Amino acid sequence: MPDPIAAFLKELLQIPGLPGHETPVRRRLEAEWEPLADELSVSRLGSLHALKRGSSPPPRPKVMLAAHMDAIGLMVTDVTGGFLRLTAVGGVDPRILPGQPVLVHGRRELPGLVVHPPAACLPEGVKDRPALLEHLLVDIGLPAAQVSRMVRPGDLVSYAQPPMELGEDLIAGPALDNRASLAALTLCLRELQQRPHVWDLVAAATVQEELSAGGALTSGFALRPDLAVAVDVTYARGLGQPDHKTYPLAGGPTNIWGPDIHPGVHKAIGAAAQRLGVQLTVELCPDHSGTDAHAIQVAGEGIPTGAISVPLRYMHTPLEVVAIPDIHAAGRLLAEFVAGLEPDFRDRLSWD
Ligand SMILES: [Zn+2]
Repeated sequence: MPDPIAAFLKELLQIPGLPGHETPVRRRLEAEWEPLADELSVSRLGSLHALKRGSSPPPRPKVMLAAHMDAIGLMVTDVTGGFLRLTAVGGVDPRILPGQPVLVHGRRELPGLVVHPPAACLPEGVKDRPALLEHLLVDIGLPAAQVSRMVRPGDLVSYAQPPMELGEDLIAGPALDNRASLAALTLCLRELQQRPHVWDLVAAATVQEELSAGGALTSGFALRPDLAVAVDVTYARGLGQPDHKTYPLAGGPTNIWGPDIHPGVHKAIGAAAQRLGVQLTVELCPDHSGTDAHAIQVAGEGIPTGAISVPLRYMHTPLEVVAIPDIHAAGRLLAEFVAGLEPDFRDRLSWD
């Protein structure tokens, strides 16, 4: 793929970043965002903030675009006979884990495999059932004494499935939730190098969304933006998945609508898509949107917040699938939204 955003995304997919342990991802983003922003800073919880100043005289209104850096994974609970037992960090589906390559973050990084005893070796009544997490093990192929020296309960295990190009425009890999959105944010920052914008922009790569959205909540409080947009992934359509809960892959991003979302921000995102001619589908989230949007919305005295999502197949598996054109559309849409913010937009916002 000669596309630089796709190449950057592929790099991001290979960097571990479990909730609370996002530093490796943040370092790579710092290198990428440093030439695109006026100022980088790191929050007390480890979220990265990249400030790009607007063109109007100070004090300027400020918009935050937030995408989380963390990805789900596993933690070692027990080391026994040279094998590791596991628990989930975030919404892991154990049915798809057997056979997956992983990286064990012990005293050093050790490649391993998630394994399940062959059906013939399992007792009746167990072998016909889907794998339970408590029956899965990690095999790192070393003698038991060596494993006990190098791995301890509490060590983290990340997915090590290498990314792969699929078809013509798709990419598959672990952690596309939410590295796909970080690629879109990067594209937005690049687009804004050539486009004037009146408002200050802070691109925020947040921590711990998969567990508590603590990064988004604290960045919202620390930055006090006048408005914000969360960028995440949503369920893409696929065979066997209900149409009313899914959105077309390669059909453009979604614009979330629900109580997490400020109606004025939702409308402005829709207007930006129209100006650009980017396809945008409204995604209904009548409850909590399951993104950083809610945490940002209730930070401080409340922040008018919108949210867009990139459709993704096989959410929370080690091989999620995203369409590269959807990432481009999301990045361009965010840039158009920011560039289109007029000086008095905040004052004109009303909930009704
Ligand atoms: Zn996510």
